[in-house]
Amino acid sequence: MSALADGVAGFEHRALHVERGERSGVFFAIAIHAPGADGVALGGCRMVAYPALSDALADALRLSRAMTLKSASVGLRHGGGKCVIAAPADGPLSAERRTEVMSDVGDLVERLGGRFLTGKDAGTTTEDFLAMAKRTSHVIGLPSEHGGSGDPSGITAFGVVTALQAACGEAFGDDSLAGRRVSVLGLGTVGGDVARRAAALGAQLVVSDIDDAKRALADELGARWVEPEQLPREPVDAFSPCALGGVLTREVVAALDCRVVAGAANNQLADDGVAEQLRERGIVWAPDFIANAGGLIGVASEVDGYDLAEAERRTAAIGTALTEVFAHAREQGTTTLAAALAYAGARSAALG
Ligand code: NAD
Repeated sequence: MSALADGVAGFEHRALHVERGERSGVFFAIAIHAPGADGVALGGCRMVAYPALSDALADALRLSRAMTLKSASVGLRHGGGKCVIAAPADGPLSAERRTEVMSDVGDLVERLGGRFLTGKDAGTTTEDFLAMAKRTSHVIGLPSEHGGSGDPSGITAFGVVTALQAACGEAFGDDSLAGRRVSVLGLGTVGGDVARRAAALGAQLVVSDIDDAKRALADELGARWVEPEQLPREPVDAFSPCALGGVLTREVVAALDCRVVAGAANNQLADDGVAEQLRERGIVWAPDFIANAGGLIGVASEVDGYDLAEAERRTAAIGTALTEVFAHAREQGTTTLAAALAYAGARSAALG
């Protein structure tokens, strides 16, 4: 039976591996939600300072499930997995200890024997994965000179802009971003590129980041800068959350002054019930696991053997997928989340 058919309550995962690194002493976990039709689960590896180990495990379980949904939504035969590293609370790791952590994680990835492939995510760097690649070959998204498909942030951003356009098409009957007021929260590798691409398409931008150094990009793009807490309250046509997850709380959604939400952040809804609140407020929300699937499509090319042009074609199809999801939600009077889960389930079943 498909893991998607098992529902969302309880432990629906295939495996949860938790270890304290032998070299580093740092805790990390790998969750495998579903093995996929081809027995290979894909998912990034993030490093975050979690308040408690239970938060790290909850994150791994949630994010690996989202990877299964993401993979099915874009027609990939892979399952979903995720690795989380619990960064110590007592400040940043030294370069030496960081290498130790990545070696520890690499040993576990190697022991999984190719059932889980991983690459860069929030809080980890290409250098981290070059260190990990010394312990295991099951690393994806390395730079091309190291045999990989490169940083997936650009193709992720392309997919997010496609999602913004599709959601504007649903909300306004016109998918053009020219002249649209768009807010972007988080100007990291993906959000910065989303802002650049939206500006190039003629959008008027309002942006924010907790990192003040990102003001330089705002100036370069002629974007207005506001404080992070204020950004979701700005009157705009479309809001693009591109920082970390959980941003769409009930309080934030009550304060939104926009018709569209489409961004890169994983797990944007603080809880699934927020999807209904968005629907009641007449806001078109592009479910994150479809909107940000471009990165997965990019790195999966290393396993499935397609080229960049094909990866871009598949990522452009995110717009078609979302248009179908929005129409289904409108016709059935349901949330875009429910419609997207049904869409992912149907594609997963079709893949076998
Ligand atoms: P990143 O670490 O490069 O950027 C995140 C940015 O958000 C940073 O500039 C950070 O300062 C900022 N930020 C963090 N907390 C914030 C807050 N509370 N308010 C405002 N800004 C805040 O990460 P990224 O690779 O750009 O990824 C962004 C999101 O997209 C993450 O949720 C990630 O899981 C998701 N995602 C990324 C990819 C990818 O290809 N990189 C693919 C799919 C999903």
